[in-house]
Amino acid sequence: MSDNLIYGNVSSKEAVRLEETYGAHNYHPLPIVIAKGEGAFVWDPEGKKYFDFLSAYSAINQGHCHPYIINALIEQAKTLTLTSRAFFNNKLGDFEKFITEFFGYEMVLPMNTGAEAVETAMKLSRRWGYVKKGIPDNKAKLVFCNGNFHGRTISIVSASTDPDCRKNFGPFTPGIELIPYNDASALEKYLDENGDEVAAFIVEPIQGEAGVLVPDEGYLKECYNICKKHNVLFVADEVQTGIARTGKMLASFWEDIKPDIVILGKAISGGVLPVSAVLSSKEIMMTIKPGEHGSTFGGFPLACVVAKAALEVIRDEKLTERAEELGKIFRDEMKKIDSPRIKLVRGKGLLNAVIIEPKDGIEAWDVCVKMKDAGLIAKPTHQHIIRFAPPLVISKEDLYKAIEIIKDVILGLDA
Ligand SMILES: *Cc1c(COP(=O)(O)O)cnc(C)c1O
Repeated sequence: MSDNLIYGNVSSKEAVRLEETYGAHNYHPLPIVIAKGEGAFVWDPEGKKYFDFLSAYSAINQGHCHPYIINALIEQAKTLTLTSRAFFNNKLGDFEKFITEFFGYEMVLPMNTGAEAVETAMKLSRRWGYVKKGIPDNKAKLVFCNGNFHGRTISIVSASTDPDCRKNFGPFTPGIELIPYNDASALEKYLDENGDEVAAFIVEPIQGEAGVLVPDEGYLKECYNICKKHNVLFVADEVQTGIARTGKMLASFWEDIKPDIVILGKAISGGVLPVSAVLSSKEIMMTIKPGEHGSTFGGFPLACVVAKAALEVIRDEKLTERAEELGKIFRDEMKKIDSPRIKLVRGKGLLNAVIIEPKDGIEAWDVCVKMKDAGLIAKPTHQHIIRFAPPLVISKEDLYKAIEIIKDVILGLDA
């Protein structure tokens, strides 16, 4: 690493020192400092270029600093940024019409982070459970799956099965039940016994943080039908899987289901601002009345303009189709690598994972560090799994170049 600074005025070494000295240690980043991003690439302060194969956990589906989105941001930032919801503004309604038509829903409730949108869906489900389904006071249950990741608030980690997410954060929110993932009969059994008190089943169509766990074909549809039978809301957390990432606009569309509630975040703004949203029907959404839920920034004009532009990019650049086509190439090429280190390749669209066989003390983390040195950044999820999720705008030529880097690193482990 040369000490010549190309981007910004802080070296990689100094950036790491500053974060470690003054910032909470709630993350364990790979040792790379990013100073600039464009499309599928990022650069460190010293000017070295990398393929970005994390895309900020799929928030950057449209690529870094997409000019169309950034232009929308700049123009709106000069005009109006925040009004709060104490007043109407001239951008919110236009965005609400756009996003509901875009995904085929009647109404939207805009928030900021993914976790806030999940919380919103939990509150909305409970509310619906009381006022529409007739669940007795304070009895409403929400069913989640083992291995889930839905965010970091107290209520959300109350549904987590990951000890790192929970330890010493209790007491937890009651009314949360857990069942195994990818097991529709477990849901059926639970609802057969307790369905009267269950407001919603909240599920990731693919468990991203768990290591891109793709459930069996038909699982989601079966769960959806079981929910219908028991008058339970089917809620899809599409914060990571939504917005073209898996080769469909929503991963739920792979099984032709229309969830009662859809939770979106991450790529809804192309990684430009924290924007999230909950989509649902009028019947469900209208159970929340003025003053009963909200956020100062939720639906702020700047976010509305940026999110609309970000969704237009998805549509106009046909990123759904690209994700599907390039994802197939990626998985095929990974499967072709002849190495005992690769245990399994799985995924959908451009949300994929390679499971690494640990050997001679080399684990997924070490592979990621070697890939970083070779010019490609990705992050392990759990000890043996590497998620590969490049921006959907990556060109086919660049994808093949990235595949070469991954191949060389993996084959190099045993060379
Ligand atoms: C990232 C993520 C969240 C949380 O989003 P934040 O913006 O980090 O709060 C929720 N659900 C899923 C599936 C996610 O991947």
